[in-house]
Amino acid sequence: MNVMKVAEMSPEQYGKYVEYHVRYREKHREELAKKSNEYYHENAEKCSAQRKQHYIEHIDEMRERGHAWYRKHKEANPNYGKEQYEKYRKPFPEKMKADRKKYVDTHKEKISEEGDIYKNKVRTEILKHYGGVCACCGETNYAFLSIDHVFCDGNTQRRELGLRGGTRFYNWLKKNGFPSGYRVLCHNCNFTIGHYGFCPHMRESKLIGLNDLYHLRAENKAMKGNAVREGRKRAAERRNGS
Ligand SMILES: [Zn+2]
Ligand SMILES: [Zn+2]
Repeated sequence: MNVMKVAEMSPEQYGKYVEYHVRYREKHREELAKKSNEYYHENAEKCSAQRKQHYIEHIDEMRERGHAWYRKHKEANPNYGKEQYEKYRKPFPEKMKADRKKYVDTHKEKISEEGDIYKNKVRTEILKHYGGVCACCGETNYAFLSIDHVFCDGNTQRRELGLRGGTRFYNWLKKNGFPSGYRVLCHNCNFTIGHYGFCPHMRESKLIGLNDLYHLRAENKAMKGNAVREGRKRAAERRNGS
């Protein structure tokens, strides 16, 4: 039999060639389907890899196809997304967890970038609300500022709320409608007040005399002592409880 290459065919010959194949496929439909099914099962790994490769190479087209499919079904049934979730996702929590982890692992940069933008937004909002200026020295650069608990029991409170500080604490403040009892301090003053019980800036200020300062320090120490004792008590309870 004379086998001709497709590239060497005239348009007429090519038309006949296609026609022949279409007819052949129609005639042997079941047999071919069976064969292809068998091939797929014998070479499952290879086929799946090829399919994946094809998906990657045509990613935009494939995604658009997926979106079109979703839109089409969503139009016909507004609950489509929810139903799919209940059927294919919810019963497989392990797989969902693994998929989520995979997404986080492969999109680390994007996630961290978005997280930073959000964190900054919330932080700015909070600092602005509480005055945006260090209550002790008047520093206004947001890079230096933080939120301080006026009664010096920030750590105790954070432990009670189960907040690890930072963003969670800022989110908590926002969620609770900016409760009173907080003020803005710069890191310098915050640390100094936390460590010594007072800030040298206070001494310079005419508003606070030395007597006030020592009184404040004593009060502060008592409060800090209480907070530490409370913290230890709670830690012991946790140890005994578990
Ligand atoms: Zn300050
Ligand atoms: Zn200060």
